[in-house]
Amino acid sequence: MPPKKLHLSKSTSPITRRQALKALGSGALLLATDVVASRRACAASQSSGESSVTTPILEPCALTDVRLLDGPFLEAQKRDEAYLLKLEPDRMLHNFRVNAGLEPKAAVYGGWESVQTWADIRAHGHTLGHYLTAASLMFASTGHEEMKRRVDYIIGELKECQDAGKTGLICAFPDNTTQIDNLVAGRRAIGVPWYTLHKIFAGLRDAHLFCGSALAREVLVKLADWAGDVTKGMTDEQFQRMLGVEHGGMNEVLADVYSLTRDEKHLPLAERFCHQAVLMPLSEGRDTLNGLHSNTQIPKIVGFERLYRLTGKPHYHSAAEFFWKTVTGTRSFVTGGNGDNEHFFPINEFARHVSSAKTMETCCSYNMLRLTRMLFANEPTAAYGDYYEKTLYNTILASQDPDTGMMTYFQSTRLGYLKLFCTPFDSFWCCTGTGIENHAKYGDSMYFRGRADGPQRDALYVNLFIASMLDWKEKGVILKQVTSFPETGKTRLEIKAASSQRFALHIRHPGWAATASIRINGHAAAASHKPGSFIALQRRWKTGDVVEVDMPMALRMELLPGTTDTAAVVYGPIVLVGALGHEVKRGEDLHVNERTIGSVFNEPVEVPAFAGELTGIPAKIKPSGPPLTFKTDGIGRPSDATLIPFYKAAHQHYNMYWKIL
Ligand SMILES: [Zn+2]
Repeated sequence: MPPKKLHLSKSTSPITRRQALKALGSGALLLATDVVASRRACAASQSSGESSVTTPILEPCALTDVRLLDGPFLEAQKRDEAYLLKLEPDRMLHNFRVNAGLEPKAAVYGGWESVQTWADIRAHGHTLGHYLTAASLMFASTGHEEMKRRVDYIIGELKECQDAGKTGLICAFPDNTTQIDNLVAGRRAIGVPWYTLHKIFAGLRDAHLFCGSALAREVLVKLADWAGDVTKGMTDEQFQRMLGVEHGGMNEVLADVYSLTRDEKHLPLAERFCHQAVLMPLSEGRDTLNGLHSNTQIPKIVGFERLYRLTGKPHYHSAAEFFWKTVTGTRSFVTGGNGDNEHFFPINEFARHVSSAKTMETCCSYNMLRLTRMLFANEPTAAYGDYYEKTLYNTILASQDPDTGMMTYFQSTRLGYLKLFCTPFDSFWCCTGTGIENHAKYGDSMYFRGRADGPQRDALYVNLFIASMLDWKEKGVILKQVTSFPETGKTRLEIKAASSQRFALHIRHPGWAATASIRINGHAAAASHKPGSFIALQRRWKTGDVVEVDMPMALRMELLPGTTDTAAVVYGPIVLVGALGHEVKRGEDLHVNERTIGSVFNEPVEVPAFAGELTGIPAKIKPSGPPLTFKTDGIGRPSDATLIPFYKAAHQHYNMYWKIL
């Protein structure tokens, strides 16, 4: 008998879609790892109904309907899952129990979770929130029951803490509610308590959406009610002053709560959490981001776009759209990452900041991708798809240690620097938290389908070229993507349909490929000379149809913004870096303290420069050995360089930006 499968919506627009539990058709056999969802899960998923005012054209295909096949993303997902299994829920719950007056069951973890060095940021407990999200996403991505079992256990414990604590608040701060009390009273507060609480909110939301936990929803709503109660005496002015302190995506998650409850008090609360000092200039198309903490802003913008969907107020959307354009167009490095020392800097100062060891915080890329995904669903243009692809490979896939599964904080552009990763039990940075989520949701932005009530009802968008299997239930279609991209610029889509189905298959012709050609069942079917567009293939599709896509990859140089003599090498969407050697012993690049990144491994490393005209350099770079490995041919000074994908660079010094002589 085909298994039943939990069919839920996704993380960035998580609760806007009613998705009933459906029995699978014949294609279910292809997804053998899926589990039978519980009745409770079904009830929960069905309760989260549509409540959007503005409906996007597309919606991402559900994570439960996409399975990764062999390739670098599946490997990264497996490493992440192994790490999630090593973490002990009772240790993450330690301080939640203490604050609720309950006996902890295991020793607390180190790093940001307890150690005095980081006490002033008040991030205690953020890891548990990220863990709930990551384990819930991993359950949706794999169907592995152990993930759901862990989520359910944690939710049960949080419920006990919430009941014992009486107010509805659950937190792990060392001084319990003191800093929140300070903030709402307009006093100076230590750290970023709302930022940390946002992770707990989001974890509860995702436990409900992806694991079907009704109890998670109950705890979440009580927590949201507490947030309303504790802030209700504040004037708007006091509230805005409070929002001067980093508060994560509180506006987004409260909008999600509203979408779940339809309780009228939750929507105004979500809107109160919108930081007007950031919202207003962005909505007017003014970039006032210089000097602002990057990762403080991006989640606010995700919340603006979420609120646009719920309220229809156009200034939320214009702010989100403009922010995306200005950050990706003028404030990003070649990988898609942004910022130095966690802050946006003036756009004419790249040349100064490129030598920093603290460029490109990984969390920023995580949040930019969440924003991109939402905007793409609203307006499916290849510009969003291209950014998503580039940033996914060059920051997210690049952020994981291929040996230990640990994650980067900064991804340095400094000449000849190296990647430093967190330690497993004594770091717990922000980027550890978003890091465990990153590799649990690769399936969430590959395929988008037209909304049933929208103008593109019969459309399927193929946004990423990753080996995977999609179960498009509404159509009874299984789509298998077979590819070794980016090792070749080709992908192959194999269709299996219960009965023949008419729909338009939209395939991204990436901005990096001069042409894209398509064969259907061996015959030339379409050719595009418009890089950065989608190719629509409208026909009646049937089992056995095969679509082959050919996108020739080429080398190019991309200048560091504002310079004429500093450039990176890019192959297709893949940023190549110089493999400089100076190997670091396995484990030596696991680093506890993110503040001291930049002051380690600073022995001089020779970094070649390239001689020649910028436009002529790609012709002097030749394939060399394994796939995606290249060598400069006579242009390196004093010596030639071997180039490998940034996403594969680990345990050795690398170079991303080259001086052009
Ligand atoms: Zn971070």
